Amino acid sequence: MKKKEAEKRIVQLAAELERHNHNYYVLNAPEITDFQYDLLMMELQQLEKMFPELLRKDSPTQKVGSDILPYNEIAGSLPRQFEQYPHRYPMLSLSNTYSLDELSSFNERVEKGSASPYTFSCELKFDGTAICLTYKNGRLMRALTRGDGSVGDDVTRNVLQIPSVPETLKDGSGYPDEFEIRGEIYMPYKAFDKLNRQREIEEEQPFANPRNAAAGSLKLLDPKLVKGRGLECTLYHLIVEEPVAATHIEALQKASSWGLPVSGLVKECINLDEVNEYINRWDSERKNLPYATDGIVVKVNQLALQASLGYTAKSPRWATAYKFKPEEALTKLVSIDYQVGRTGAVTPVANLEPVQLSGTKVKRASLHNADQMQLLDIHIGDYVYVEKGGEIIPKITRVEPSRRGFDIVEAVFPSHCPVCGAPLVRDEDEARHFCPNQDNCPPQIKGKFIHFIGRKAMGINAGEATVEQLYSKGYIRELSDLYKLTPELLLTLDKWKEKSVSNFIESLSKSREVPFERVLFALGIRHIGETTAKSIAMRFGDIWSISMATREELLEIDDVGAKLADSILSYFSNPLHMRIIKELEEYGLQMKVDSGKKTVQSDILKGMTIVISGNFSIPRDEMKFLVEANGGKAGSSISGNTAYMVAGEKCGPAKLEKALKLGVQIIDETQFFEMINKI
Ligand SMILES: [Zn+2]
Repeated sequence: MKKKEAEKRIVQLAAELERHNHNYYVLNAPEITDFQYDLLMMELQQLEKMFPELLRKDSPTQKVGSDILPYNEIAGSLPRQFEQYPHRYPMLSLSNTYSLDELSSFNERVEKGSASPYTFSCELKFDGTAICLTYKNGRLMRALTRGDGSVGDDVTRNVLQIPSVPETLKDGSGYPDEFEIRGEIYMPYKAFDKLNRQREIEEEQPFANPRNAAAGSLKLLDPKLVKGRGLECTLYHLIVEEPVAATHIEALQKASSWGLPVSGLVKECINLDEVNEYINRWDSERKNLPYATDGIVVKVNQLALQASLGYTAKSPRWATAYKFKPEEALTKLVSIDYQVGRTGAVTPVANLEPVQLSGTKVKRASLHNADQMQLLDIHIGDYVYVEKGGEIIPKITRVEPSRRGFDIVEAVFPSHCPVCGAPLVRDEDEARHFCPNQDNCPPQIKGKFIHFIGRKAMGINAGEATVEQLYSKGYIRELSDLYKLTPELLLTLDKWKEKSVSNFIESLSKSREVPFERVLFALGIRHIGETTAKSIAMRFGDIWSISMATREELLEIDDVGAKLADSILSYFSNPLHMRIIKELEEYGLQMKVDSGKKTVQSDILKGMTIVISGNFSIPRDEMKFLVEANGGKAGSSISGNTAYMVAGEKCGPAKLEKALKLGVQIIDETQFFEMINKI
């Protein structure tokens, strides 16, 4: 590969990995399997190795993914969720490998650094979310998530809801005055199935896998809800100032004697053969475990040797993870369905001859898009390999050429929407085909309603099933139709009684108070997110001004790019949309920013990131709003880019310390108000 191509690919890979990190750590909704993720990461590492001059400091290979919610994600109704504290020792991730060969080069590196004999500790790699517990005088003081590796979210109250985590250690068991212990919070399969069944009943999106369910549960705001989630904890790394043992395994045994949960499946292996044996055994036996595991962690057992091997920027040199390859199965591709999603995206889904895979019968698998089909050179009637990683929908990875018969038929991606018949379009930078018939294509109409009623949009008390019924009975076609529904009509719905009808009507009526920025988001203009809706609403003040905005005016807003600007222009140029908006306004929906919240049009804070911490005379969200209304950005954590920290009562000590360290200017509420001319 030439340098130029490599450079291009590196940028692509970095962006792709960032996106998947975000999906995984922040949204808890991965789109790809771990294995696919690791492949992308390996490709990037490889390229950076070939062209070291192209290695960027901010490359995803150089940092651990972050689970901290950036402010933008939670702009709007949700306040900042957890206090953040720095980790005393950075929380790194493990280097990982899928090959036994690489494991032996790991061993060679250890051998080189070691003067005396050593052994390995082999442990199952629980598929959960990392946690760091601090005990002081026998009491749990703090539980932090990994966060970005150096700063984590304080989830102590939630962790205390996990029965296996002791709030106080066993009396007289000889624990040190203060220590840290790290491990994994995970959700056993049983609890996971129960939770997802519950979510289905409540018409909420089920979690993709137990790991995401665990991570999501740990970040619930109400500890009482955490209690019902059935989380478990296993601890695997003790950090003490004064050593309590000579080996890692002894240290874990000590921790266990203090009352802490430690896995009983840890094994000391005297050489690589024994390590391999452990791996082979658990690669098959893990299927019988009541929880998900995705590999084996191999650590140098001798703590003195661990210390002398030390760390790279990203991971310890004394440990590595061997990841299990996802299971695959060979089966026949019977046919392909082309499903039209809520956004109009057309996804090819393969119908397979049923085959057993990772304990379940698989009949369907995703083919992603037309490019992927072409890449696989897939034909109806082919024998294909399906893989299931991370419990997401199985995916076809390749065709088995030796089993290709004469009866195969070329798989052709349709040129027209299989539902409404409109000619499909393909965005230049997106690999997917779309049906452009947004207002008349049934799955897209339903999608619009589902988005509209959503919790972050209008918050109407109904779910997908209700939309499905209302649509199939012909009661709803345009968003404004929702407000035309009468109790008589609603009573004709399957299983609807007076109580459900009155609940629904009441929540419709309540939705009239939903602030304009959320109404704007609810309209479902393509590419508009919660945060951008807010920025646009604040800038223009009301829907009619937005509808008349020029492309240039739209592009002036920080988060608005060309794609979104064009999408907004095209949305408002459609007379149908204008009529619907008018109707919604007549039904009483908010079509302008609440005047109490008046858009402040100043750009005094332009280009500044300002972090708000503590309690003020007005709600913290209002403070953040004021920052943004004056052209600034409300940051969530202190960095070198922070212009000011506005400190209120009880502001986070860690933030304060960091601000002082980095020389960030700290101001109080009054100074802030003066700055934006509020007083
Ligand atoms: Zn269509």
